[in-house]
Amino acid sequence: MKQFNIITSLLITLLLLYSCSEDTNIKEKESSTKEQLEEEPINSDSASIIKLEFGASAELIDEIINKEETTFMHNENKKIAQVFSPYSFPLVFFKANESYAAFAERDSVFFGEKFYKFISNWGNIITESYENQKPNTLLDFIGKSRKLDLKKYYDIAKKWDNEKAHLVLSSILAHEVSHLIQRKNNLPTKNKRYIQRDFELEADGFAGYYMRKRDNGNLTWKQISISMVLFGFISTTDNPENTESHGTENQRRAAFRLGYLLGEENLTPKEFDTKFFEVYDNVLNGHYSNTSKHFSKKANTTEFKSNIPPHILNKMNELYKIYTGQVGDKEYQNLK
Ligand SMILES: [Zn+2]
Repeated sequence: MKQFNIITSLLITLLLLYSCSEDTNIKEKESSTKEQLEEEPINSDSASIIKLEFGASAELIDEIINKEETTFMHNENKKIAQVFSPYSFPLVFFKANESYAAFAERDSVFFGEKFYKFISNWGNIITESYENQKPNTLLDFIGKSRKLDLKKYYDIAKKWDNEKAHLVLSSILAHEVSHLIQRKNNLPTKNKRYIQRDFELEADGFAGYYMRKRDNGNLTWKQISISMVLFGFISTTDNPENTESHGTENQRRAAFRLGYLLGEENLTPKEFDTKFFEVYDNVLNGHYSNTSKHFSKKANTTEFKSNIPPHILNKMNELYKIYTGQVGDKEYQNLK
């Protein structure tokens, strides 16, 4: 069990930091004034942010992994900026001993080298762990009882390659950039009190929106949806009622899919926000939380339909099924 324990503790570190960093970041939004943020130069800020977060030995680095990967990420950041024009944010890389994290803070996205390596090597980590130990559970989150069935990820892990890893890295970057776009636009507008899950699910939605538009829409949903395997894997909860989290795997999948569907239109961040939550909350989370019968009844009222974008209307049942876990991995990847 030794190897399994090492991997388990490693991943717990990863998952906690991945979520806590974002958590810290967004909460800071409420306490810092815009003027304070603009006074300080970004570069010295970034270095001190990293040290503050991960300790004195943590440092900014110019290159992540190697030249090729560094260029890939900077290009990706440019592509994201094109889709979300005029919004554009610096991307900085860092190294910190045992910390696996990517997060948005101040006006920059921070991407840790360890986290980057983890995504690149995810396939090996899962297959080796599964083949050697065959545990039913990979992770038990502290106090959250999150359980992961390795078998569920094994087939995808076996076929893991650089192209897939890059698509996931791209989605993660888009998710982090979205947090900065949210900050600039005071989104989510519905968020009258701080609810982390709203920020996170909307950022997943923005990531889906971006992936549809990336490279002029060259990617298929099948390629894009691979991101959600990883987002689900690093999801922080199995409890659909937990609002202090990134959301459950199903909640994240529905958000990402909805963002992808909204990518059929060209939307400003505020327009995206309105449409995203109109569908996600009022339909999936609110009115339709009980039974699909209830869903049909509500969806058939004219008043209700008028607020839903017409091209989303015939996808409502699909979104509802994803949200309630009725769509398996393969079915999810084979959606049109
Ligand atoms: Zn986030």
